[in-house]
Amino acid sequence: MSDSDDTYDSFDERDALCSFLPQGDPIVGLRQRNRRKFWEECDSLAAEIPGLKEVKEILEEDVISELEEEERAGCPLPSTPEDPALFEQEVKEVLKVGLRDLDLGTLMNCAREPAEELVRKVWESWSVCHFHHLPRWLQDNDYLHHGHRPPLPSFMQCIKSIFRIHTETGNIWTHLLGCIAFIAVMVVFVSRSSEVVPISHKIALTPFFLGVILCLGLSAAFHAFSCHSEFVGKIFSKLDYCGITILITGSFVPWLYYGFYCQIQPMIIYLTIVVVLGIMAMIVSLWDKFSESRFRPLRAAVFTTFGLSGVIPAIHYTILEGWLNAVYFASLGWLILMGVLYILGALIYTFRIPECLFPGKFDIWFQSHQIFHVLVIAAAFVHLHGITEMFTYRMSIGACAVQSATFIT
Ligand SMILES: [Zn+2]
Repeated sequence: MSDSDDTYDSFDERDALCSFLPQGDPIVGLRQRNRRKFWEECDSLAAEIPGLKEVKEILEEDVISELEEEERAGCPLPSTPEDPALFEQEVKEVLKVGLRDLDLGTLMNCAREPAEELVRKVWESWSVCHFHHLPRWLQDNDYLHHGHRPPLPSFMQCIKSIFRIHTETGNIWTHLLGCIAFIAVMVVFVSRSSEVVPISHKIALTPFFLGVILCLGLSAAFHAFSCHSEFVGKIFSKLDYCGITILITGSFVPWLYYGFYCQIQPMIIYLTIVVVLGIMAMIVSLWDKFSESRFRPLRAAVFTTFGLSGVIPAIHYTILEGWLNAVYFASLGWLILMGVLYILGALIYTFRIPECLFPGKFDIWFQSHQIFHVLVIAAAFVHLHGITEMFTYRMSIGACAVQSATFIT
């Protein structure tokens, strides 16, 4: 009788022990059958997976004490699949991947722990991979060679990956920190007393704050969960594009409100146009193929055009009030700077600068997408400064009748 046969005997003894367990505990028996099947298939797998035999031997040494421990602990780990076929499949796949990607020493250490712990540790011990090893749905930027996350079909794994270094680390943190910063600014602004900031002004600026927070938050979420699966990745990429649309729409609202504060009709017309354009951009970005790599220029074009549509009310304002008033009272300079930052970001994003010039050299840091993210945050802060200035002027000027006397003629 071989060593493994001895082990089977111990499993049989274990089955006998388990017959004393309450009827509500069928999982114990199921796990034993799963283990047995696994060892039966181990010999055939050993040919395919180098090093599996050694792992098996170490696991067998500890199996009796492990079972005793389980008895004390109660029933299996919550994540243990109840379907034997699922269990077998998971063990095979994880060991194949794990043994390929991990060094044997690490695995040997892991092997001294219960089988489920081993599976869990190997499963969690993913390592970054080359672009060519990614599934097609994860292949986005072929100028980034190394450091990609493999598919991680678990939300917890994706969240944990935020704290590891890979091609998306910079993308996640740039917008996550930006989102937190804008939440803090919004809380400070909204919580000010209504004598300092009247409620109507709080309402006017809130769409901008919400737009930035949603855009940055959804973007960070997209970059965190994009590797979960093709389905989840697509949903989050659509949310990411919706966030950009909300940001552009939200940025227009306070500027149009303060710019045309005393001309209600153009204000309402422009606000309506912006909302309609925002809805249209959102519909386009919900199109299934919109997130595909080949439509990168189209994405940049849609959002840039939408953003640049702000030129029309800006020209209108300048014609009505003159260039100097536009600069002093409508923060035109800040508006232009914001536009320049967005356009620069869109160009860098589209042409994938600098990694297209030095493929493989900006895999982790300073890649085009990170620069684009930083420029988006810079543009949002510039716009915040601009509309805060407009708000301050409006508060100091007062009623519309006084405004004409204040303006530069
Ligand atoms: Zn992004």
